[in-house]
Amino acid sequence: MRAFRDLYYLFFPIVCHCCNTPLVENEDLICVPCRFALPLAEMTATTDNEVERAFYGRIDIAFGTALLLYERKGVVQKLIHLLKYKSQEDLGILFGKWLGSELKLCDRLPIIDYVVPVPIHKKKLQKRGYNQVTKFAQEIARSLHAEFNDRQLRSISTNETQTLKQRSDRWQHVKEKFYLEDTRFFEGKNILLIDDVITTGATLEACCLELQKTKNITISIATIAFTS
Ligand SMILES: [Zn+2]
Repeated sequence: MRAFRDLYYLFFPIVCHCCNTPLVENEDLICVPCRFALPLAEMTATTDNEVERAFYGRIDIAFGTALLLYERKGVVQKLIHLLKYKSQEDLGILFGKWLGSELKLCDRLPIIDYVVPVPIHKKKLQKRGYNQVTKFAQEIARSLHAEFNDRQLRSISTNETQTLKQRSDRWQHVKEKFYLEDTRFFEGKNILLIDDVITTGATLEACCLELQKTKNITISIATIAFTS
């Protein structure tokens, strides 16, 4: 079997997602040199880090962090693109295990009950076939012994939005629209909300405002990357 596998890789080498060199044994998705070169955000242990400051005065979050720093045309942008548009969902697993191990050791993170991914609309889901943050979120949930939940926070279609417009003017200013199935479901719980990249923070802000319709909820945020 081993010989067969080696032969297979000789003809169909599995290459590094960053530099395209063939991966050697024990390397997974990204080669060791590229892994060391990734721009780590290193903010999980830090109070008042950049992610937390990005939401000051906007929404009340208990905790915030990101794994990597995002730069336009940089390697992180390339990886996120592969994860989002090229079916490279396994990158989500890799990043989820990575950030999950950071979070597990982090004593300033509340004890998380539910890990909730930012939803994508069902039409987008049908087209892409997956939500790019699902596997990332599931790995983090596993690390924290928390429950993964993608059923409560939902994304709304434009038609559905029309009927909700009267409820709040805010809907008109936010590109992504979200709603919570049951505003009692997360009552008294600590939620870790997950997304891929924080750019303006508008998506996460919209999700938080919806989640905050729940009583006694705390919301923490973790993402793959942060645009500083
Ligand atoms: Zn590489």
